[in-house]
Amino acid sequence: MSVPTYLDAAARSGLAGVAAKLDLPRFDAGWVWLAGAGPGDAGLITLLGLHAISEAEIILYDALVNEELLRFARHGAQVIYAGKRRGKTSAKQADISRGLVALARKGKRVLRLKGGDPFVFGRGGEEALALARASIPFRIVPGVTAGIGGLAYAGIPVTHRDTNHAVTFVTGHGTDGNIPDLDWNALSRGSPTIVIYMALAHAGEIADKLIQAGRRKDEPAAIVSDATFGKQHVCVTTLAWLGAMAAASEAPAILVIGENVRLREGLDWLGAMSGRLLDPDPLKRESAAEAG
Ligand code: SAH
Repeated sequence: MSVPTYLDAAARSGLAGVAAKLDLPRFDAGWVWLAGAGPGDAGLITLLGLHAISEAEIILYDALVNEELLRFARHGAQVIYAGKRRGKTSAKQADISRGLVALARKGKRVLRLKGGDPFVFGRGGEEALALARASIPFRIVPGVTAGIGGLAYAGIPVTHRDTNHAVTFVTGHGTDGNIPDLDWNALSRGSPTIVIYMALAHAGEIADKLIQAGRRKDEPAAIVSDATFGKQHVCVTTLAWLGAMAAASEAPAILVIGENVRLREGLDWLGAMSGRLLDPDPLKRESAAEAG
């Protein structure tokens, strides 16, 4: 798929000016940059990521990348969809890695653009290792991962002093398609907040494992669908209901389990923009202190 380039000369030179001012690295021929595009909202890409888009000659992008960002591609750049969703032809991982190597060997400036952060459940490591094996020079450009940025847009801080001193990021999708073979008991005991990627299909099974391991059935949980996009939808529920709610939710979605979910009552800044009244004491600490 080829996306038309829209960026006019003024915008291009503005971007080049920023890159020069910040002394951003040059995108050299024969290099592959693996960059994260952030979770959705175009503004959440990094400057280095945007610089990479505007300098690349070839861009291979994934399903979760906001296509608006591709407007920053230079005139004549080849913009190729390499995702695995939306019913389009599925590109195999090995083919993508081979393609990156072949294009770099031709002396192209190749950008591999992924949703979120390339090293967070995004196979960025696998692709970079394929480049390393082929002695292709590469750079990693981190991005805002959905499990952090997506929660922020839902008004749920991924850590908060009063609720969790730790957080664990988990994938709901193991290599064989089932839930990964983790020590769910240890996870349940050791991680007050659990953020789960790719888990809509297995949310019920995961919730059961956590409840069996001792987590409360009424522990708060949330599902953030299409996080940071205009159509973002947040469902706040409990661990017991997580599976049923996930079955009714749209992908892509991030799941979060933990007391920090309660903070949304006070921190749903997006909701506040459309009139939601925020509760400044969402954990009911001050009222509890007054009563005691
Ligand atoms: N590298 C990506 C994750 C890729 S795995 C990152 O760092 O964010 C794909 C999973 O990421 C999806 O199944 C979903 O769980 C999550 N995800 C990515 N973008 C999302 C979005 N905009 N809203 C909700 N979940 C998202």
